[in-house]
Amino acid sequence: MKKIGFIGLGNMGLPMSHNLITSNFDVYGADLNKEALLHFEKNGGKVGYSITQLASTCDVIFTSLPSNGAVEAIYLGEQGLIEHANTNILLIDTSTVSPELNIRIEQSAKLKGVDFLAAPVSGGVIGAINKTLTFMIGGSKEVFERALPVLHVLGENIFHVSEKIDSGTATKLINNLLIGFYTAGVSEALTLAKESQLDLDKLFDMLNVSYGQSRIYERNYKSFIANDDYAPGFALNLLKKDMGFALELADKNHVDLPISKILYGMYEEADKSGLGEQDMSVLYKKVSTQTPS
Ligand code: NAD
Repeated sequence: MKKIGFIGLGNMGLPMSHNLITSNFDVYGADLNKEALLHFEKNGGKVGYSITQLASTCDVIFTSLPSNGAVEAIYLGEQGLIEHANTNILLIDTSTVSPELNIRIEQSAKLKGVDFLAAPVSGGVIGAINKTLTFMIGGSKEVFERALPVLHVLGENIFHVSEKIDSGTATKLINNLLIGFYTAGVSEALTLAKESQLDLDKLFDMLNVSYGQSRIYERNYKSFIANDDYAPGFALNLLKKDMGFALELADKNHVDLPISKILYGMYEEADKSGLGEQDMSVLYKKVSTQTPS
């Protein structure tokens, strides 16, 4: 396992690919964005290869892509990974996509005799930089074990959820449903605190040692809200995407999630008002500015 392809060199893919490079793998990158490719090349990555060239020559290919559409095109398109894969390749999708897409990719991969894992991650950009990501992986246990050495370069907690290809994704969507709840809760709670003339730094210190504490409160407040800087991070439109997939999963399993539906509407509205590309914590800005001081 020496030659690794990395497709999607954004907020997550760039630091993950960098960690592979510094662990002495030869890493070949692809991205539609020229700036992302330049950063990757500066980090020591190799550029200038098509998806089909990567598919026919790499031992492992990781993808970290922003949407179902991008993942579908890269895996299932005519010029895509599965059509052109060499038979020893291992394909690992770390993007968060719909469970239904995991299943379609696995079906195509099986027809071609290609190994594929659906391996969404949690831990954010900080986790990607610090190699502390959590992986929630669905797919063959044998293939999972084959992938472990390279996964350990990127993450600290590597879970095999089950042989069912979409089981890691279902886990990840439930994680992100909770992130959606916490982010909305922090936005409303801090708006109330501000309007009650409380000092938000002092509030954090007190709630951080109380039951109101949460990792999302800490992340959203300390890294974004306190600095009034919302560069992602985890873009709000990506959280909206994941909450949408979680609601689809709920529908499929005949589960009614009334509060989640309301929250999804909040993220949808924030995205429509132009905040989608900013970090999810920007929801606080929307909630607090809707409240007249
Ligand atoms: P991002 O938008 O920063 O990066 C995606 C990259 O993919 C961009 O550089 C874009 O140019 C590239 N891209 C898009 N379509 C492409 C194509 N067809 N071919 C090649 N490159 C293409 O997104 P991100 O924040 O890095 O997230 C990536 C995935 O990881 C998403 O599925 C997201 O839900 C998931 N995720 C993100 C975080 C986070 O904190 N940012 C955490 C966990 C999981």
